[in-house]
Amino acid sequence: MYDVIIIGAGPAGMTAGIYAARAGYKTMIMETGAPGGQASTTETIENYPGFPGGVSGPELMMKFYEQTVSFGVETVFQHVTSIEVEGNIKKVIGDAAYEARSIIIASGARPRVLGVNGESKFRGKGVSYCATCDGFFFKNREVAVVGGGDAAIEEALYLSKICSKVTVIHRRDKLRATKIVQDRALKNEKIHFIWDSVVDDIIGENSLTALSLHNVKTQQRQLFTVDGVFIFVGYIPNSDYLPASIILDQRGYLLTDDYLQTNISGIFGIGDIRQKNLRQVATAVGDGAAVITALDKYFADKEGES
Ligand code: NAP
Repeated sequence: MYDVIIIGAGPAGMTAGIYAARAGYKTMIMETGAPGGQASTTETIENYPGFPGGVSGPELMMKFYEQTVSFGVETVFQHVTSIEVEGNIKKVIGDAAYEARSIIIASGARPRVLGVNGESKFRGKGVSYCATCDGFFFKNREVAVVGGGDAAIEEALYLSKICSKVTVIHRRDKLRATKIVQDRALKNEKIHFIWDSVVDDIIGENSLTALSLHNVKTQQRQLFTVDGVFIFVGYIPNSDYLPASIILDQRGYLLTDDYLQTNISGIFGIGDIRQKNLRQVATAVGDGAAVITALDKYFADKEGES
């Protein structure tokens, strides 16, 4: 029986692990892939304090992980398929079932797909959702980036260092990304923009060769020849495995109270999976630290009841 099981070893989950173990709680983290979550697919994190000049995402996340290990947090690499609640006892089910007095959900979010023809066929053959992972395959070649948010524009800037030309395809004529990031991209000679346009089809034979685009204002269509496309059109919360009794918002994000608790007593939500305004490593870390104070309160209240 664990005091707390944390689902997800991203920055939020690992911070919660460090704080929980330091507070003396028997703590386990369950993680599907490698530690670090989305932060470990980010080339450089520039706005995490303490690293003037930025820090590599994978490097920062490995340091987080080493710190969880040094405090004795157990990490089990298993995909969680469900959660069961039996009064004060909670069960987390992966390859095996584990019992805990409390659960912290920190399973984050995954990239949203466009859902167009050819997208799944050419995934890994020209279609990518991670510039850090796949950018190198397009060295000195021409790529497109779909999206206008921080992720799309930051990754376009990263790709501009590797590729000969980067074309951002955005469905509006204004970017959503933070101004400083926008300005950098707009000034970058290797980055070009196709405004007011969406991808209808991803075309190729063995690998991607072109995108079929249409302008949403003029309805004009064009075949855009390109070697690869990187898609950054937002994220979907990894909340599919949660029981229907846990309240989510319309988009599937967890609703939490001031103590980061879900509607079920003893089940908390932190990081990108939670409905909140800003999803960053810094805010994930903040959630991870704060939730352990909430956990202390929860255990103290339970002891008071018995
Ligand atoms: P986002 O801010 O939601 O932006 C998604 C972009 O994709 C928007 O430009 C959106 O267009 C476009 N889009 C959505 N669905 C589309 C579709 N079906 N077809 C074409 N375009 C579509 O998502 P994000 O950029 O992934 O960022 C997510 C969060 O992480 C944000 O809060 C962001 O600030 C944060 N983030 C921060 C940093 C940083 O600070 N270093 C880096 C990365 C991400 P519209 O603009 O028209 O809606």
